[in-house]
Amino acid sequence: MTLRQYVRRVKNRVFLTIFQLQNSKKDQFECPVCGYCGPFMDVVPSTGLRKHAKCPKCNAQERHRIQFVVLNDVLKDMATNKMAMLHFAPESFFKYYFSERFGQYETADLNMKGVDHQVDLQRLPFDDDSYDFLFASHVLEHVPDDEKAISEIRRILKPKGIAILPVPILSEKTIEYPEPNPYEAYHVRAPGFDYFMRYERYFSKVERYSSDSLPKKYQLFVFEDRRHWPTKEIPLRPSMQGDKHIDIVPVCYA
Ligand SMILES: [Zn+2]
Repeated sequence: MTLRQYVRRVKNRVFLTIFQLQNSKKDQFECPVCGYCGPFMDVVPSTGLRKHAKCPKCNAQERHRIQFVVLNDVLKDMATNKMAMLHFAPESFFKYYFSERFGQYETADLNMKGVDHQVDLQRLPFDDDSYDFLFASHVLEHVPDDEKAISEIRRILKPKGIAILPVPILSEKTIEYPEPNPYEAYHVRAPGFDYFMRYERYFSKVERYSSDSLPKKYQLFVFEDRRHWPTKEIPLRPSMQGDKHIDIVPVCYA
């Protein structure tokens, strides 16, 4: 361990101890990624406050934790060392997780620098049956012709391939925007619970893992007050009841 790593580790431990002391009366959870037990952190991005969102030890947010739990379940009996995977819009959180498991690991994105393939999901330059596994989290809500993208994903998958394609659930029913909204990173729709039916047109089976069907201790819900929606910045997101929202990880089988 270098001196810099040592200092960082000590700093993290001090931060964690202080955070736990200051928040000892808050709800306690367990992080499935790093094993931390205790309160989670609230976060306040531009979209507004989300309670119990982030693990203070490994920074896993709600979607990382639920995807991690699902990935472990889906991949547990698979010979991933013999499989080829494509990681679209590769978030750093999962790069190591995938690259150390899969025999062939490649990254792709439309705009991101440093990926293996700079490509458009709507027109993939790969042969049919190229990959065993594809992961694209929070991508399809940005893609105008998502039907084309879903059919392209299915096309490049091998006959027994799997694609995991989560999108944020921001409405009861999916709402298409007339143009991309710059205030929500150029989303072109607010996906609803019905969104995953679009996958069923191209995949033989779509399994939905939901926050309320997985262990509560991992805190896999999105605690966000959406009663004041829509706002000037998000004029097409409808108001949603309550402040505890379900997340879903759809696993699509070719
Ligand atoms: Zn953690």
